[in-house]
Amino acid sequence: LFNKDLGQHILKNPLVAQGIVDKAYLRPTDTVLEIGPGTGNLTVKILEKCKKVVAVEMDPRLAAELTKRVHGTPDQRRLEIMIGDFMKTTLPYFDVCISNTPYQISSVLVFKLLEHRPLFRTSVLMFQREFALRLVAKPGDSLYCRLSVNVQLYAKVEHIMKVGKNNFRPPPQVESSVVRMEPRNPPPPVDFKEWDGLMRVLFVRKNKTLSASFKTDSVMEMLENNYKTYCATHDRMIEDPLDMKAKVQGVLQKTEFAEHRAAKMDQDDYLKLLAAFNEEGIHFC
Ligand code: SAM
Repeated sequence: LFNKDLGQHILKNPLVAQGIVDKAYLRPTDTVLEIGPGTGNLTVKILEKCKKVVAVEMDPRLAAELTKRVHGTPDQRRLEIMIGDFMKTTLPYFDVCISNTPYQISSVLVFKLLEHRPLFRTSVLMFQREFALRLVAKPGDSLYCRLSVNVQLYAKVEHIMKVGKNNFRPPPQVESSVVRMEPRNPPPPVDFKEWDGLMRVLFVRKNKTLSASFKTDSVMEMLENNYKTYCATHDRMIEDPLDMKAKVQGVLQKTEFAEHRAAKMDQDDYLKLLAAFNEEGIHFC
Protein backbone atom coordinates (compact mmCIF):
# COMPACT_ATOMS: atom_id res chain seq x y z
CA LEU A 1 0.00 0.00 0.00
CA PHE A 2 2.73 2.48 0.98
CA ASN A 3 5.71 3.40 -1.14
CA LYS A 4 8.92 2.54 0.70
CA ASP A 5 11.12 4.64 -1.58
CA LEU A 6 9.17 7.71 -0.58
CA GLY A 7 9.63 6.87 3.09
CA GLN A 8 5.90 6.60 3.63
CA HIS A 9 5.41 5.93 7.31
CA ILE A 10 2.09 7.38 8.36
CA LEU A 11 1.89 8.89 11.80
CA LYS A 12 -0.95 6.94 13.37
CA ASN A 13 -0.83 8.20 16.98
CA PRO A 14 -3.18 11.21 17.21
CA LEU A 15 -1.58 12.36 20.47
CA VAL A 16 1.79 12.68 18.78
CA ALA A 17 0.22 14.48 15.80
CA GLN A 18 -1.50 16.91 18.17
CA GLY A 19 1.73 17.42 20.12
CA ILE A 20 3.58 18.37 16.95
CA VAL A 21 0.92 20.90 15.94
CA ASP A 22 0.71 22.37 19.47
CA LYS A 23 4.47 22.90 19.56
CA ALA A 24 4.25 25.10 16.46
CA TYR A 25 2.26 27.70 18.48
CA LEU A 26 0.20 28.56 15.41
CA ARG A 27 -1.64 31.87 15.08
CA PRO A 28 -4.99 32.21 13.29
CA THR A 29 -3.32 34.44 10.69
CA ASP A 30 -0.56 31.95 9.80
CA THR A 31 0.13 30.35 6.47
CA VAL A 32 1.68 26.94 7.14
CA LEU A 33 3.90 25.01 4.75
CA GLU A 34 3.52 21.28 5.27
CA ILE A 35 6.02 19.01 3.57
CA GLY A 36 4.91 15.46 2.79
CA PRO A 37 1.35 15.53 4.20
CA GLY A 38 0.68 11.91 3.23
CA THR A 39 -2.91 11.04 4.09
CA GLY A 40 -3.25 14.26 6.11
CA ASN A 41 -3.14 13.20 9.76
CA LEU A 42 -1.17 16.34 10.62
CA THR A 43 -2.82 18.50 7.97
CA VAL A 44 -6.33 18.36 9.45
CA LYS A 45 -5.00 19.34 12.87
CA ILE A 46 -2.93 22.20 11.41
CA LEU A 47 -5.99 23.51 9.53
CA GLU A 48 -7.84 23.88 12.85
CA LYS A 49 -5.27 26.42 14.05
CA CYS A 50 -4.27 28.60 11.09
CA LYS A 51 -5.49 30.54 8.09
CA LYS A 52 -4.09 28.47 5.27
CA VAL A 53 -2.01 25.34 4.60
CA VAL A 54 0.14 24.81 1.53
CA ALA A 55 1.08 21.14 1.40
CA VAL A 56 3.79 19.77 -0.92
CA GLU A 57 3.28 16.05 -1.60
CA MET A 58 5.25 14.03 -4.10
CA ASP A 59 2.88 11.07 -4.39
CA PRO A 60 -0.21 11.96 -6.47
CA ARG A 61 -2.12 9.03 -4.96
CA LEU A 62 -1.74 10.39 -1.44
CA ALA A 63 -2.44 13.94 -2.64
CA ALA A 64 -5.74 12.64 -4.06
CA GLU A 65 -6.55 10.95 -0.78
CA LEU A 66 -5.91 14.17 1.12
CA THR A 67 -8.05 16.14 -1.32
CA LYS A 68 -10.86 13.67 -0.69
CA ARG A 69 -10.40 13.95 3.06
CA VAL A 70 -11.16 17.68 3.15
CA HIS A 71 -13.60 17.70 0.23
CA GLY A 72 -16.91 19.31 1.12
CA THR A 73 -15.62 20.62 4.47
CA PRO A 74 -14.95 24.29 5.27
CA ASP A 75 -11.24 23.39 5.25
CA GLN A 76 -11.29 22.65 1.54
CA ARG A 77 -10.61 26.21 0.36
CA ARG A 78 -7.90 26.79 2.99
CA LEU A 79 -5.80 23.87 1.81
CA GLU A 80 -3.64 24.14 -1.28
CA ILE A 81 -1.89 20.96 -2.38
CA MET A 82 1.18 21.21 -4.59
CA ILE A 83 2.02 17.87 -6.19
CA GLY A 84 5.76 17.46 -6.65
CA ASP A 85 9.17 16.99 -5.09
CA PHE A 86 9.73 19.47 -2.27
CA MET A 87 13.40 19.67 -3.18
CA LYS A 88 12.53 20.97 -6.65
CA THR A 89 9.59 23.14 -5.66
CA THR A 90 9.77 26.93 -5.52
CA LEU A 91 8.39 27.57 -2.11
CA PRO A 92 5.48 29.95 -1.54
CA TYR A 93 5.31 32.45 1.32
CA PHE A 94 4.86 30.73 4.73
CA ASP A 95 5.04 31.69 8.41
CA VAL A 96 5.56 28.23 9.86
CA CYS A 97 6.73 24.91 8.44
CA ILE A 98 5.64 21.52 9.73
CA SER A 99 7.12 18.38 8.29
CA ASN A 100 7.34 14.66 8.71
CA THR A 101 9.25 13.61 5.61
CA PRO A 102 11.57 10.77 4.62
CA TYR A 103 14.89 10.89 6.38
CA GLN A 104 17.04 10.79 3.24
CA ILE A 105 16.19 14.42 2.52
CA SER A 106 16.68 15.76 6.08
CA SER A 107 19.85 17.75 5.56
CA VAL A 108 18.89 19.33 2.24
CA LEU A 109 15.44 20.13 3.65
CA VAL A 110 16.89 22.02 6.61
CA PHE A 111 19.14 24.18 4.43
CA LYS A 112 16.43 24.78 1.84
CA LEU A 113 14.18 26.13 4.59
CA LEU A 114 16.91 28.32 6.09
CA GLU A 115 17.79 29.79 2.68
CA HIS A 116 14.17 30.69 1.93
CA ARG A 117 13.22 34.40 2.04
CA PRO A 118 11.43 36.04 3.66
CA LEU A 119 12.44 34.05 6.72
CA PHE A 120 9.70 31.99 8.38
CA ARG A 121 8.93 32.37 12.09
CA THR A 122 9.37 28.82 13.27
CA SER A 123 9.25 25.19 12.20
CA VAL A 124 8.48 21.84 13.79
CA LEU A 125 10.23 18.98 12.06
CA MET A 126 10.36 15.21 12.53
CA PHE A 127 13.71 13.53 11.94
CA GLN A 128 15.55 10.32 12.58
CA ARG A 129 16.67 10.47 16.24
CA GLU A 130 20.39 10.73 15.56
CA PHE A 131 19.97 13.48 12.98
CA ALA A 132 17.83 15.46 15.46
CA LEU A 133 20.44 15.03 18.19
CA ARG A 134 23.14 16.29 15.82
CA LEU A 135 21.06 19.37 15.06
CA VAL A 136 20.79 20.30 18.74
CA ALA A 137 24.25 19.13 19.89
CA LYS A 138 26.32 21.64 21.90
CA PRO A 139 30.10 21.99 22.31
CA GLY A 140 31.37 18.95 24.20
CA ASP A 141 28.48 16.62 23.17
CA SER A 142 29.63 13.51 21.33
CA LEU A 143 27.35 14.26 18.35
CA TYR A 144 28.56 17.88 17.96
CA CYS A 145 29.56 18.14 14.31
CA ARG A 146 29.67 20.35 11.22
CA LEU A 147 25.89 19.98 10.80
CA SER A 148 25.36 21.25 14.37
CA VAL A 149 27.47 24.36 13.93
CA ASN A 150 26.24 25.18 10.43
CA VAL A 151 22.57 24.92 11.36
CA GLN A 152 22.99 26.67 14.71
CA LEU A 153 24.72 29.55 12.92
CA TYR A 154 21.36 30.32 11.29
CA ALA A 155 18.80 28.93 13.74
CA LYS A 156 17.97 28.09 17.30
CA VAL A 157 17.15 24.40 17.48
CA GLU A 158 15.44 22.63 20.33
CA HIS A 159 14.57 18.95 20.85
CA ILE A 160 10.88 18.70 21.72
CA MET A 161 9.93 15.06 21.80
CA LYS A 162 11.03 11.54 21.15
CA VAL A 163 8.73 9.48 18.93
CA GLY A 164 9.07 5.69 18.98
CA LYS A 165 8.77 3.54 15.85
CA ASN A 166 5.43 2.11 16.84
CA ASN A 167 3.66 5.43 16.39
CA PHE A 168 3.99 4.93 12.62
CA ARG A 169 2.41 2.57 10.12
CA PRO A 170 4.35 0.73 8.87
CA PRO A 171 6.98 1.23 11.61
CA PRO A 172 10.32 2.56 10.27
CA GLN A 173 13.70 0.98 11.12
CA VAL A 174 14.83 3.84 13.32
CA GLU A 175 13.59 5.95 16.22
CA SER A 176 12.48 9.51 15.56
CA SER A 177 12.53 12.88 17.29
CA VAL A 178 10.76 16.16 16.78
CA VAL A 179 12.70 19.43 16.87
CA ARG A 180 11.68 23.07 16.71
CA MET A 181 13.91 25.19 14.52
CA GLU A 182 13.62 28.99 14.64
CA PRO A 183 15.69 31.04 12.20
CA ARG A 184 17.87 33.80 13.65
CA ASN A 185 16.41 36.95 12.19
CA PRO A 186 18.34 38.81 10.90
CA PRO A 187 20.81 36.05 10.01
CA PRO A 188 24.43 36.65 11.11
CA PRO A 189 26.42 38.60 8.50
CA VAL A 190 28.85 35.78 7.72
CA ASP A 191 30.01 34.56 4.33
CA PHE A 192 28.75 30.98 4.57
CA LYS A 193 31.34 29.60 2.13
CA GLU A 194 34.13 31.02 4.31
CA TRP A 195 32.49 29.71 7.46
CA ASP A 196 31.88 26.26 6.04
CA GLY A 197 35.43 26.14 4.66
CA LEU A 198 36.79 26.76 8.16
CA MET A 199 34.41 24.16 9.65
CA ARG A 200 35.57 21.57 7.11
CA VAL A 201 39.14 22.07 8.32
CA LEU A 202 38.21 22.00 12.01
CA PHE A 203 35.81 19.05 11.93
CA VAL A 204 37.92 16.56 9.97
CA ARG A 205 39.32 15.68 13.41
CA LYS A 206 37.27 17.62 15.89
CA ASN A 207 39.29 16.36 18.89
CA LYS A 208 42.67 17.42 17.51
CA THR A 209 44.12 20.75 18.59
CA LEU A 210 43.66 23.52 16.05
CA SER A 211 47.40 23.84 15.81
CA ALA A 212 47.58 20.21 14.63
CA SER A 213 44.58 20.47 12.27
CA PHE A 214 46.28 23.38 10.53
CA LYS A 215 49.48 21.46 9.91
CA THR A 216 47.92 19.10 7.35
CA ASP A 217 49.54 19.46 3.90
CA SER A 218 46.25 19.56 1.99
CA VAL A 219 44.92 22.30 4.27
CA MET A 220 48.07 24.40 3.98
CA GLU A 221 48.08 23.98 0.22
CA MET A 222 44.46 25.15 -0.01
CA LEU A 223 45.13 28.16 2.22
CA GLU A 224 48.26 29.12 0.31
CA ASN A 225 46.44 29.00 -3.03
CA ASN A 226 43.57 31.06 -1.65
CA TYR A 227 46.03 33.54 -0.17
CA LYS A 228 47.85 34.02 -3.48
CA THR A 229 44.55 34.55 -5.29
CA TYR A 230 43.44 36.99 -2.61
CA CYS A 231 46.66 39.03 -2.87
CA ALA A 232 46.53 39.06 -6.67
CA THR A 233 42.95 40.33 -6.70
CA HIS A 234 43.48 42.88 -3.89
CA ASP A 235 46.70 44.56 -5.05
CA ARG A 236 48.61 43.11 -2.20
CA MET A 237 52.27 42.08 -2.28
CA ILE A 238 52.91 38.42 -1.52
CA GLU A 239 55.70 38.06 1.05
CA ASP A 240 58.91 36.65 -0.39
CA PRO A 241 59.59 34.05 0.84
CA LEU A 242 56.03 33.17 1.83
CA ASP A 243 55.84 31.06 5.01
CA MET A 244 52.17 30.13 5.07
CA LYS A 245 52.51 27.76 8.02
CA ALA A 246 53.97 30.54 10.16
CA LYS A 247 51.25 32.98 9.10
CA VAL A 248 48.51 30.51 10.01
CA GLN A 249 50.10 29.46 13.31
CA GLY A 250 50.57 33.16 14.08
CA VAL A 251 46.80 33.72 13.89
CA LEU A 252 46.20 30.70 16.13
CA GLN A 253 48.70 32.03 18.70
CA LYS A 254 47.34 35.57 18.58
CA THR A 255 43.73 34.42 19.10
CA GLU A 256 44.92 31.91 21.74
CA PHE A 257 43.04 29.07 20.01
CA ALA A 258 46.13 27.03 19.06
CA GLU A 259 45.64 24.44 21.80
CA HIS A 260 41.80 24.46 21.64
CA ARG A 261 39.79 21.66 20.02
CA ALA A 262 36.85 22.23 17.62
CA ALA A 263 34.74 19.76 19.62
CA LYS A 264 34.64 22.17 22.56
CA MET A 265 34.47 25.55 20.80
CA ASP A 266 31.29 27.56 20.28
CA GLN A 267 29.91 29.84 17.56
CA ASP A 268 31.54 32.96 19.02
CA ASP A 269 34.95 31.26 19.08
CA TYR A 270 34.65 30.22 15.42
CA LEU A 271 33.50 33.70 14.38
CA LYS A 272 36.44 35.32 16.18
CA LEU A 273 38.85 32.87 14.58
CA LEU A 274 37.43 33.39 11.09
CA ALA A 275 37.62 37.18 11.46
CA ALA A 276 41.25 36.94 12.61
CA PHE A 277 42.18 34.78 9.60
CA ASN A 278 40.38 37.07 7.17
CA GLU A 279 42.16 40.09 8.67
CA GLU A 280 45.46 38.49 7.62
CA GLY A 281 44.13 37.85 4.11
CA ILE A 282 43.68 34.14 4.87
CA HIS A 283 40.53 32.76 3.26
CA PHE A 284 38.76 29.41 3.20
CA CYS A 285 37.12 29.59 -0.19
N1 SAM B 1 3.12 13.63 7.16
C1 SAM B 1 2.41 12.35 7.04
C2 SAM B 1 2.20 11.77 8.41
O1 SAM B 1 2.80 12.30 9.36
O2 SAM B 1 1.43 10.82 8.55
C3 SAM B 1 3.20 11.37 6.14
C4 SAM B 1 4.59 11.07 6.60
S1 SAM B 1 5.54 10.04 5.56
C5 SAM B 1 6.90 9.71 6.65
C6 SAM B 1 6.36 11.06 4.37
C7 SAM B 1 5.51 11.71 3.27
O3 SAM B 1 6.35 12.56 2.47
C8 SAM B 1 4.86 10.75 2.31
O4 SAM B 1 3.55 11.16 2.08
C9 SAM B 1 5.71 10.86 1.03
O5 SAM B 1 4.98 10.57 -0.14
C10 SAM B 1 6.10 12.31 1.07
N2 SAM B 1 7.35 12.63 0.36
C11 SAM B 1 8.46 11.87 0.26
N3 SAM B 1 9.44 12.53 -0.40
C12 SAM B 1 8.94 13.75 -0.71
C13 SAM B 1 9.45 14.88 -1.39
N4 SAM B 1 10.70 14.88 -1.87
N5 SAM B 1 8.65 15.96 -1.55
C14 SAM B 1 7.40 15.97 -1.06
N6 SAM B 1 6.85 14.93 -0.40
C15 SAM B 1 7.61 13.83 -0.22
